Amino acid sequence: MAIEVIQEKCVGCGTCLKACPFGAIEIIDTVAVIKDSCVQCGACIQSCKFEAIILRKHTAVVINEAEYQDVWVFAEQKKSNIQPVVYELLGEGRKLARKRRQKLCAVLIGNAIKSQAEELIKRGADKVYLVCDKTLENYTDEPYADILTKLIERYKPEIVLTGATVIGRSLIPRVAVKLKTGLTADCTGLDIDQETGNLLQTRPAFGGNIMATIICPHRRPQMATVRHKVMAEAEINLKHNGKIIEIDAREFCLKSITKSIDIIEEIEETVNLAEADIIVSAGRGIGGKENLQLIADFAKAVGGALGASRAVVDSGWIPYSHQVGQTGKTVCPKIYFACGISGQIQHLVGMQSADIIVAINKDPDAPIFKAATYGIVSDLFEIIPILIKKFKSQKSPKGLS
Ligand SMILES: Cc1cc2nc3c(=O)[nH]c(=O)nc-3n(C[C@H](O)[C@H](O)[C@H](O)COP(=O)(O)OP(=O)(O)OC[C@H]3O[C@@H](n4cnc5c(N)ncnc54)[C@H](O)[C@@H]3O)c2cc1C
Repeated sequence: MAIEVIQEKCVGCGTCLKACPFGAIEIIDTVAVIKDSCVQCGACIQSCKFEAIILRKHTAVVINEAEYQDVWVFAEQKKSNIQPVVYELLGEGRKLARKRRQKLCAVLIGNAIKSQAEELIKRGADKVYLVCDKTLENYTDEPYADILTKLIERYKPEIVLTGATVIGRSLIPRVAVKLKTGLTADCTGLDIDQETGNLLQTRPAFGGNIMATIICPHRRPQMATVRHKVMAEAEINLKHNGKIIEIDAREFCLKSITKSIDIIEEIEETVNLAEADIIVSAGRGIGGKENLQLIADFAKAVGGALGASRAVVDSGWIPYSHQVGQTGKTVCPKIYFACGISGQIQHLVGMQSADIIVAINKDPDAPIFKAATYGIVSDLFEIIPILIKKFKSQKSPKGLS
């Protein structure tokens, strides 16, 4: 859209100049001229008595939706290991493909990873587009984006899903921009309108206070990144048959302006929150960094990983990698202990699908109790040492059972 002046109608009266709150109009040779600083607010259109200013809508590019078929999953791999979120995407992708009576496909890019393509078939992929080259061993933005874009242009999928991981978040916006299509980031729910084929992409919006369902009705493919641990993994089916389509990597531009020198794994072993069955999280109620050890001891006693609210991370008491919530990790453990956490919506969206939530808070009206399976109204400094003692006395090598 653009604001335009119809020169024949403009008399250069200057009314629009006064109406424009951004100073984005000037009069040149008795005709109003719109400057680059225009934000298209439309104030000038309403002010013009001569109807000399209009908002020109650009004609939308028409696409033939019928040409677009199949649900695609980008099969992210690290060190040739398929990332667990991919299996979740295959599980959800299968449901969408079934509703649209289409195929479920995966795109796997890496080096010498054909065996992993077989793995994707066992998890339900009907086709795997495989691109292998030694330069593709580790993820780099430009070659991966070029490959995925060109494959999409060639095979025209209706839907493309990736994990909302560091790699997914880096890759997929580049592809969406190249294809001039819509992308919804960080989805927590997906469904499809069977008639129109519109993907219903649900995600938290406005600071997590509402859930918004977003559609992309005029462009294809429809693209979304999906949070880890919010959807069920596709089950392994050894009898499922699929086809591996190997594509020559030389068809793509494999050059990158970046080079990966080394990959350094996060040193702390307890930080793999997304995979943990038990998580013990600390909130601002712990009062200070010096008290974090108590929560860490509790986590150790129950065999769990240590999480935290954003308040604790923002205070610099623990690194960001421990943060649970909307801007942290989404977790789905069997048991989640919330210690001194109030239970704001932004924290809840990251942990509310835990099987059991145990909340410890001294305020009986704390919102966390509404989400909790079990609530302990108590000062955490009194109750947690008792719990540690109790769990230690009933020690089980694999944590709670
Ligand atoms: C856009 C946006 C994104 C956000 N993303 C996240 C996110 O990813 N994760 C996240 O956690 N937050 C996030 N937040 C922040 C969120 O809104 C809250 O501010 C935050 O979760 C509060 O953390 P808290 O519960 O630890 O602290 P508080 O809200 O201060 O709660 C502390 C709780 O401790 C209790 N308490 C105090 N002393 C004791 C004691 N001795 N024993 C027992 N209980 C005690 C209090 O009763 C209180 O309920 C986000 C906010 C915004 C706007």
